[in-house]
Amino acid sequence: MAYSSTGKLPDEHASKLGHLSVIQSQWVQSLIEDFEDNQSRETDYDMSLWHDFDVGQLEKLKYIWAVDGSFVSVKTNPTTGKEVAFIKTALISVDKKNLEKIDKKNPHPLLLQDIMAGSALFHATVLPLKNVKTSLGSNYDAIRHIIYDSMRVDEDGQYFQTLKWLSYKKWEDSKGCSPKFDCPHCSNEIPGLPYDSSKGECPHCHKEVLLTDMIGFHLDMEEDSASEKIVSSYMLLMEHLMLFTIVRLMWHHTDKSVFSDTLFIKDGPLTLRSQYAKFVPLIRDFIEYTKRVQRPIHIIGQEKSGVFHDHLTVLSKYVSPKQLGETPTVAVLTHEYVRKEVYRTGDLANPYGSRTNWGEKVYVKLEPDTSLVLNIPTGKYNENPQFPKQDDLVGLERIMATLPDLISRRHEGALFPVELANGVASMSSYPSAKILQRFIESK
Ligand SMILES: [Zn+2]
Repeated sequence: MAYSSTGKLPDEHASKLGHLSVIQSQWVQSLIEDFEDNQSRETDYDMSLWHDFDVGQLEKLKYIWAVDGSFVSVKTNPTTGKEVAFIKTALISVDKKNLEKIDKKNPHPLLLQDIMAGSALFHATVLPLKNVKTSLGSNYDAIRHIIYDSMRVDEDGQYFQTLKWLSYKKWEDSKGCSPKFDCPHCSNEIPGLPYDSSKGECPHCHKEVLLTDMIGFHLDMEEDSASEKIVSSYMLLMEHLMLFTIVRLMWHHTDKSVFSDTLFIKDGPLTLRSQYAKFVPLIRDFIEYTKRVQRPIHIIGQEKSGVFHDHLTVLSKYVSPKQLGETPTVAVLTHEYVRKEVYRTGDLANPYGSRTNWGEKVYVKLEPDTSLVLNIPTGKYNENPQFPKQDDLVGLERIMATLPDLISRRHEGALFPVELANGVASMSSYPSAKILQRFIESK
């Protein structure tokens, strides 16, 4: 997802209201002032979680990887009603030495090419959504098999290996089965596929099931059409699989230090919902394991829109640093704070994020115009409303030491590696819709 503009950076000052002569009216000016004034006051907010975070003496992380994705659905002319979706995800690594050479405001395209050379991986696939028939079977089965094949073909099956690594918890010695799932043929529950298998058989209807069926995409499909939800879910799953491919490779690398010297960045929250939430306990389990064996992981998600982003936008003006050069500040949001201050609901019955989140929420303000909503994992979940505390976040100190070097000047609160990943994964690098349309019609 691209960064949105808030208009606060000097170069962003588009004259959104300036051209209206009515703005010169004292009445209108007073209205605007009152409106802004009434919107929020510092005393409306609980600021007790904020505190200074001096990063001066802390060791920076040496390697950086970031993942992002995008998708587009394409309809052909109305008579056929054919609709397909193209999905693209990208994983990039950034060399910190090259990154330092770059002017963050006006990055030179050739230098950008340099830091990207040989360091970008992308994955692309196409899913039929409506009225696309193949000679092999229904739309439903076509999607199931395209997903299975897409994950197995790319990068010599490394992403599929990562799916196995997560599903069977391959960081451990135990040889357990995959998470349970509903059969795509008969809907009965399959207790899980045996350790390391790519395919299996449903014990109820005895039809073939794929490891990718365990993910549960078929729950977002009908026999002859699929909802757009499957497209965003596939993108999100692939972002996870790509990022965890590099996590996995580094974890098993002979040089044990590389893993803990790396910052892994995911665009968006560290969240998986509905049937896809079955990966949440697996990922938490791995992160807890890295803590146990004292090889900490440094992984963040950045939220660039949504309720936390909006909340921080209001709060950040009351928080230091208010001038360049002042110490950065951090607020680690407890579950109670999220419920009471962010969502403003009294509902504390269900522990916040227990099923869906593998990272906790953290607000960071690095510079007067740079505040970020981060997600950082803790490993095991704790349902205490006062959880998490700063010490519960894995690797917060080195993450904080590294962030100031990654600030982009092109968008407010933007991180350079995420912008780069966004560039590789974005729509603009798709063939034009016209070409895609011709492609579908020719099939
Ligand atoms: Zn079955």
